[in-house]
Amino acid sequence: MVIKTRVESRELMVYRILNSRKVLPFKDALHLANLEKGYEGERLFDERLRKIKNDWLVLNDLQLESNNNNLQIDSLLISEKMILMFEIKSYEGDCYIEEDNWYYTSGTEIQNPVLQLERSEFLLRRLLRDLSYNIPIKTYLIFINPDFHLYNAPRNLPIIYPTQLNRFFDNLDNMQTIINEHHQKLAHILISLHKKDFPLNKIPKYTYEELRKGVICAACSSFNLESKKSFVVCENCGNLEKIESAVLRNVDEFRLLFPEKKITTTEIFEWSKGIKTTETIQKILLKEFVQIGSTKSSYYVKKK
Ligand SMILES: [Zn+2]
Repeated sequence: MVIKTRVESRELMVYRILNSRKVLPFKDALHLANLEKGYEGERLFDERLRKIKNDWLVLNDLQLESNNNNLQIDSLLISEKMILMFEIKSYEGDCYIEEDNWYYTSGTEIQNPVLQLERSEFLLRRLLRDLSYNIPIKTYLIFINPDFHLYNAPRNLPIIYPTQLNRFFDNLDNMQTIINEHHQKLAHILISLHKKDFPLNKIPKYTYEELRKGVICAACSSFNLESKKSFVVCENCGNLEKIESAVLRNVDEFRLLFPEKKITTTEIFEWSKGIKTTETIQKILLKEFVQIGSTKSSYYVKKK
């Protein structure tokens, strides 16, 4: 049973929006491609896991704090007798290990994912101990991409290779597990500790001025939207969206990129490139936001 579903990370969303609104420098474009590949790999893993009949409690994409350190977990399974923690990697191509260092065959070094997993395991163990839970933890590094190969890997690493995935999931499927209130409680504690505002791993550089303004089509990211009375129609792909939803989506993008800026009707009018009048924008904002102040300098904060 999936208790916490996976959504795109804030980092991926920021990079996607920037990619629509400016030309990304090569390094950022590459990082975006890697983020997309990573997310796709995680979703592939989720799909495989969903097919398992077992009654595990599944928590995806947890961002926790343990011992004053940030702990990010791709997937966590709570079973009767243990917790399984997964780090999912979408590496593609050939890699090799040399004296604990990992490289692509091109010679480019990559961060040792086993060390990363060990660090996460240590922090999770510590957190569970602080919460007075004494459950054994088993960790796995999952290589989900079938086009991945690793040379010189010792046999004792906690790795599941693409060619072992079928058997791995079969074994999970065959494990008996009975979940009780104690496990449910732990799952809910972990969710309550999840921190949404984790710092981004890599922060791209951007300014408000350089970004293209306007509303982007929800389906194809085109700016070519025609505003009807209560809908916007994408002239590129034909997608139809309620004007409310399009404007509020655009406000979300603004908030994500500029958390320090205040939401005002003129600001959103400009950001949406005048898709509707400031009066209409105000009406739409009031559906999900509360107006603070009533003068010209009033601004809006999201309803709780
Ligand atoms: Zn479109």
